[in-house]
Amino acid sequence: MRPTFQLLFAAALFTAATSFATPTLPGPAFPQFADAKAVEMACQRGIDGAKRRVKALERHAPDAKWPAASDDLNAYVEDVSGPIELLVNVHPDKGIRDAAQACTLRWQDFASTLGQNEKLYNAARKVKPSDAIDREFMRVTMDAFEDAGVSLPADKRQRAKQISDRITELDQQFNKNIRDAKTQVPFTVDELRGVPESVWKDKPRDDAGRVLLGLDYPTYLPVLERAESAVTRERIYRAKLTEGGEANLKLLGEIAQLRREYAQLFGIKSFADFQLRRRMAENTTNTQRFLDEVKVAVSEREGRELAELREAKAKHLGTPLDSTKLERWDLQFYTERVRRERYSVDQDAFRQYFPPQESLQFIMKVAEDMLGIRYTRVDAKLWHPDVQAYAVSDAKTGKPLATLYVDMYPRDGKYNHAAVWSFRNGSTRLSRVPQAAYVVNMDRKGLSLSELETMLHEMGHALHNNLSATRYSLQGGTSVQRDFVEAPSQMLEDWVYDKRVLKLFSTVCKTCKPVPDELIDKAVLARDYGKGVRYARQHLFASFDLALYAADAPEPMSLWTKMESATPLGHATGTMFPAGFSHVAGGYAAGYYGYLWSLVVAMDLRTAFEANHLDPEVGMRYRTAVLSQGGQRPPRELVKDFLGRETNAKAFYDYLMK
Ligand SMILES: [Zn+2]
Repeated sequence: MRPTFQLLFAAALFTAATSFATPTLPGPAFPQFADAKAVEMACQRGIDGAKRRVKALERHAPDAKWPAASDDLNAYVEDVSGPIELLVNVHPDKGIRDAAQACTLRWQDFASTLGQNEKLYNAARKVKPSDAIDREFMRVTMDAFEDAGVSLPADKRQRAKQISDRITELDQQFNKNIRDAKTQVPFTVDELRGVPESVWKDKPRDDAGRVLLGLDYPTYLPVLERAESAVTRERIYRAKLTEGGEANLKLLGEIAQLRREYAQLFGIKSFADFQLRRRMAENTTNTQRFLDEVKVAVSEREGRELAELREAKAKHLGTPLDSTKLERWDLQFYTERVRRERYSVDQDAFRQYFPPQESLQFIMKVAEDMLGIRYTRVDAKLWHPDVQAYAVSDAKTGKPLATLYVDMYPRDGKYNHAAVWSFRNGSTRLSRVPQAAYVVNMDRKGLSLSELETMLHEMGHALHNNLSATRYSLQGGTSVQRDFVEAPSQMLEDWVYDKRVLKLFSTVCKTCKPVPDELIDKAVLARDYGKGVRYARQHLFASFDLALYAADAPEPMSLWTKMESATPLGHATGTMFPAGFSHVAGGYAAGYYGYLWSLVVAMDLRTAFEANHLDPEVGMRYRTAVLSQGGQRPPRELVKDFLGRETNAKAFYDYLMK
């Protein structure tokens, strides 16, 4: 059963009073569902409750207390819909995942109806905010109403709602096609020569005794990086790059058309223009100019790297350079090979030093030392026995701050990338603690350094949720402008290349051998190798996304073929990258550039930690000025508060040109 709002409040107070005795998890317990039916019933109860609260809010006078009343509704909706939305991606039972997915569609219907609620919109217009935080709250609220189409004429308004609901449905289908595909590619042991045995030894076999490999990252990447056979690499690359298939290309095409139509209901030419007017980047012109500058900064380096990789291939195969062609499925393999040769560093060499559980404790230790917090493991029944629960508290005062769930290992039907679900935002007004789920897919045998980097990146999102101390839940933690949301995570990626930071590993694992200094030195040198190719690819993804949502809304596959063909390696016929590009089908539509944009900000943020990545004073200033503020002030202001100056791109371009 879902606790009511009043019970939640009481639960939070109770937790605060007892946290020193036996550790408990701040906030409500995660709901348990026995079967699909239980999800359906909880869904119905949640929606009924939300509708009653909408009616109550409609009766509320547009006075100074209106923002709080509106946020009460938001907090309630988070509580009843957030966990179910998470379960769509992580629950081991397909029946429950499907029921949760159906529930998410009902919440989308609720949200798009709410966005067009004229009574609430008219009340919101009359509210006179009493301070800067309320003003920002009302600005975000009004933008959401207007973007949902409340002020459109009746026929257009109805069409806007239809389109929003339909896009949610298509986007879900897009992800489901990838999640449920369960593609397995058969290889003989000989075909897997070069791939570490640990990757394939325990995998299932077909009748002919061939190893069956899935396309999850702990399997896919090592094959691409290490398989000596180009045919093997090509086969797994092609399988990965057709994930989602023709069906998803159709879905993406329909989504892009619908988004354009949506923007045009508002008299805006393209969906990109519609989205970007609410972003840090502000408009398509700024975004395009930024992408053009990035291209200038990376092109020369990309060309140089590709030439080196081609030489490496010719040398490896003993073929003349002139007739050696570098293919897409060669990139990772030869990048790794050159890295190993030149810097004698091997990502797999790190696995023995970074057992997964201790790696988790290590990144928690980094966060503890830097930001003045503590993690305490607490027993809890969750959606899978592998999932761990942690109470997060303030180190100085012991005050409970948040709950973090950690889901570390791959399994069938689970979301196969790395992500954090901030399914419950905090609110100081309600003494409401934030809760987030940290979902990654790590190798049980140990992590490479780049996987440790991914772990820390995701921890950045979890911290943004967990350490938020905003007045309203609507603006909690990661509810910031989309092109800023990656910055706190990207900032932290750098920390794992710092010997002083890595020394902390010994404090969480007495029996682990320390990583030799020499190995880290090499890793630092090796890290930047390949960045020309890497950022050129990011640039291509961002440019594709922006072009897909331009005024002409081109057909996705022909657009992609044209754009990829214009790159130095060209397009691999038969592959269909857009079919698996779930970012652009979903919330990153006309927003993928945000990864590069927020990296600029992240690198600027890092400059404050240059002297010491773990400096607790700078860390506390960062926690207060940036993380705790969530979206209650625009990101530009938060960054300016922290750095003591306007943000700039100097650190980013210095890094690209270096
Ligand atoms: Zn991220």
